Amino acid sequence: MHAEKTLGPPTALELIRIEDVHKTYHIGDMQVHALRGVSLTIDRGSFVAIMGPSGSGKSTFMNIVGCLDKPSSGEYLLDSVSISKMHRDELADIRNKKVGFVFQQFNLLARTTALENVELPLLYSDETDTSNFKNRAMDALTAVGLADRSDHHPSQLSGGQQQRVAIARSLINNPQLILADEPTGALDSKTSVEIMAIFQRLNREKNISIVIVTHEPDIAHYADRIIVFKDGKVQSDERVAEPRDAARELREWVADDDDEEEPAA
Ligand code: ADP
Ligand code: MG
Repeated sequence: MHAEKTLGPPTALELIRIEDVHKTYHIGDMQVHALRGVSLTIDRGSFVAIMGPSGSGKSTFMNIVGCLDKPSSGEYLLDSVSISKMHRDELADIRNKKVGFVFQQFNLLARTTALENVELPLLYSDETDTSNFKNRAMDALTAVGLADRSDHHPSQLSGGQQQRVAIARSLINNPQLILADEPTGALDSKTSVEIMAIFQRLNREKNISIVIVTHEPDIAHYADRIIVFKDGKVQSDERVAEPRDAARELREWVADDDDEEEPAA
């Protein structure tokens, strides 16, 4: 597929519309062209994997999509709203309402329970009725299968459990979009599949759009589309014909383990 297509007219399905976005960083009198003309759309309910070598602009792209940063030029519409010319506080407001973030290193507060970590974005929101915060945080922990660990601190949890807490935190404001920059980068293979199973379930059951950055082709194939960046541009953008099914792989994994544990006849 040729990447430098021009975009058609907006459709109702579109959640993200990025048109000829450039991002240039200025360091002293040096300029770094992190994005050099990216155009693409992402429909609601998509599961997209972003790949590409280090320095190709993946994180810069994610920061713009997540309204953490603005393009130097070009247009970005999130849910039909133009982000490019918004002020900082408007951007923060949109971000809090629409986007959840998950990071490679989990980014949990160490001296805080899982429940309080999940609750945290609510404390920064403009919601004034705090009476349901604990319940909502508990619901989010339940959604990632960690209700029974709500009073644990991050150090008492495995890496996979910490990442599940981080996913619960990303869910707390009912986002339309979850952005995850190398969410399995610090996890072993099986734990990575467990995390991908959670993302796939949120995508399919709650219709949350998911965009992840990953270096691992195996992980990218849980998505239904893979976009490869190179030198600040989209190098390729392809549908995955048959995305992997993480939940099924985990069930088969468990079945295999059971076989192994069977005593010899
Ligand atoms: P990737 O995530 O694909 O590794 P990045 O988007 O982080 O790539 O970076 C793309 C380019 O922009 C790199 O050359 C990087 O050094 C540069 N860059 C990223 N963030 C900044 C920043 N805040 N200030 C200056 N340069 C940056
Ligand atoms: Mg990066």
